[in-house]
Amino acid sequence: MQMKSERQQEVYKCFINGVWEVAENGAMFDVINPASGEVIARVTKAGSAEAKRASEAAAKAFYEWSRTPARERANLLWKLYEKIMENIDEIASIITLEAGKPLHQAKLEVLNGAEYVRWNAEEARRIYGKTVDASSPSKRLKINKEPVGPVAAITPWNFPFGMVTRKVSPAIAAGCTVVLKPAEETPLTAIKFFELAEECGFPNGVINLVMGDAPAIGDVWLNDKNIKMITFTGSTKVGKMLYEKAAKQMKRVSLELGGHAPAIVFDDCDLKATVQQISRGKLNNSGQTCICPNRIYVQESIADQFIEMYKQVLESATVGDGSKDGTDVGPLINLEGVNKADSHVKDAVKKGAKLLVGGKRLQTEDMKKGFFYAPTLLTNVNESMDITHMETFGPVTPILTFKNDDEVIERANATDYGLAAYIFTTNLTRSHRVAEELEFGMIGINDTVLSQVEGAFGGVNESGIGREGGPDSLEGFLEDKFISTVI
Ligand code: ADP
Repeated sequence: MQMKSERQQEVYKCFINGVWEVAENGAMFDVINPASGEVIARVTKAGSAEAKRASEAAAKAFYEWSRTPARERANLLWKLYEKIMENIDEIASIITLEAGKPLHQAKLEVLNGAEYVRWNAEEARRIYGKTVDASSPSKRLKINKEPVGPVAAITPWNFPFGMVTRKVSPAIAAGCTVVLKPAEETPLTAIKFFELAEECGFPNGVINLVMGDAPAIGDVWLNDKNIKMITFTGSTKVGKMLYEKAAKQMKRVSLELGGHAPAIVFDDCDLKATVQQISRGKLNNSGQTCICPNRIYVQESIADQFIEMYKQVLESATVGDGSKDGTDVGPLINLEGVNKADSHVKDAVKKGAKLLVGGKRLQTEDMKKGFFYAPTLLTNVNESMDITHMETFGPVTPILTFKNDDEVIERANATDYGLAAYIFTTNLTRSHRVAEELEFGMIGINDTVLSQVEGAFGGVNESGIGREGGPDSLEGFLEDKFISTVI
């Protein structure tokens, strides 16, 4: 694969005010292919100086951009959508190279990301204010929708393309300008996105890309009065820290944080379809998604059957380099990820869980330099184990059993997180009742594919604040301005 474009000759660069540039201090960091452990690229390591210049550029560009007609903003986003569609294969192969996921999943991520760009291009022209009848006959009342201002976006490595499109496209559709910091593990996908955006001709300063020292860059943006909003996807730990810092200037926040999704399998479900849905949700990106099923509660009477069928799916999954044909499960992002998954498995087994499949790092000749973990099935799991409270972020499925609806609802809700929850049943009444009782931002009924542009993606409690996508996708980037006139 041709990794470097003409714009990125010696080292991959930041994009600030329309110019590709290296960090002042000359520092660099390596990007690793998690399937091989090899260094695949060197990227300029920006810090406070570059972060500051980027936010100044975004602030300078904001006035013009916020007054650019919605139709023109939408046209540029449409162009970007088309560029993405023309470059699906290249973008997908970059994702697989730096994030490890199988190529077919990477392609789906690009298509899904492109949909966000297209959706937000459409929504750009649907920003409506309101006029309201006043109680005084001599008054006229109007509520305008205005962009909040320059936005700082910070994204994670598990969906290096999707997360960028989900944040950048609604922001610019709404008339905001953006400074983006992608995860250090996966900057190359964000660089490709910016190269395509540059070709579309966004005015200088409207979108800016800074990679490098995350705390230093984050601190500059959190303390900069030019930045009016922080949109973040990542861990609850970092999200809480950003929220606290953002409070000092009352910046708006949108936070998509961790999750611990329960999947409840009732005895009246379509068992085959349920096994397929849950295993797909679990193995997607090797279990490194914030909405993957983390606790599978199976009703006692069908537990043995469910476990047997699920076991067969795991045993037939092909683990390997995501760029190879036929790979179902790629590597984890790094060694830390492998160790975390393994520690959850060991803790569960120590506390009485039964290990039916997997349960170890895979180190055959072709995998030993990468970060592979075997798809794993644990039964006899209970709430005393770390795996039922903490995000594993690995291909590990823990099975718990339950007797009745009220019991399982209470156990499913016993988490500080509140992102996604899943119900599997063919009973319509039950599905509605249980969905209403579950305290989560998103509920999948016989469905584990929740990331779709038409939906409102986001969580409650410690899973975050705000929603991405859906009919209100621009709302988070808009501010109401109330205008009262005496005539
Ligand atoms: P993960 O555990 O999935 O890597 P993180 O929350 O650590 O999740 O990272 C998500 C994003 O947050 C990444 O872009 C990372 O660089 C960034 N990040 C991590 N720490 C900080 C920080 N102190 N300030 C700003 N951004 C941060």
